[in-house]
Amino acid sequence: MGQARGGRIQLIYDYEYLLRRLYERLPAKTAKASRFELPRLVVERVGTKTVIRNFKQVADVMRREPRLLMRYLLKELGTSGNYDEENGMLVINAKVSTATLNNLIQRFVKTYVICPTCGAPDTRLVRKGKTWILVCDACGAEQPVPPF
Ligand SMILES: [Zn+2]
Repeated sequence: MGQARGGRIQLIYDYEYLLRRLYERLPAKTAKASRFELPRLVVERVGTKTVIRNFKQVADVMRREPRLLMRYLLKELGTSGNYDEENGMLVINAKVSTATLNNLIQRFVKTYVICPTCGAPDTRLVRKGKTWILVCDACGAEQPVPPF
């Protein structure tokens, strides 16, 4: 039957092709609609420590691993800390002002999230050896970024 043959031809599309096509179609949609708005940081000082209570939420909005964002912040602050996975909080072993944290987050977003070519936030950080590349799902641009 002609129908059956047609069905067979469909199978020529391999999984990778379909996946690629899916990815090509998805971001274009979201890129238009997405207005990138970070939640306001909920910062609390506990003794000599500083806690960002909604840390995971912030990382999720920018589609970054919380631990990656943590590494950036701690390096920039020159201090230590740890990510409380259960509560989605970041505990920083220093007194840090909310303004400082906001500045650092903004800088991270500018360098490691927003596509410099089209301005979309629909990006991924891809590691190629020692090089980090910001790959944009909206326009396809690839931009090397400084590792940390
Ligand atoms: Zn782009």
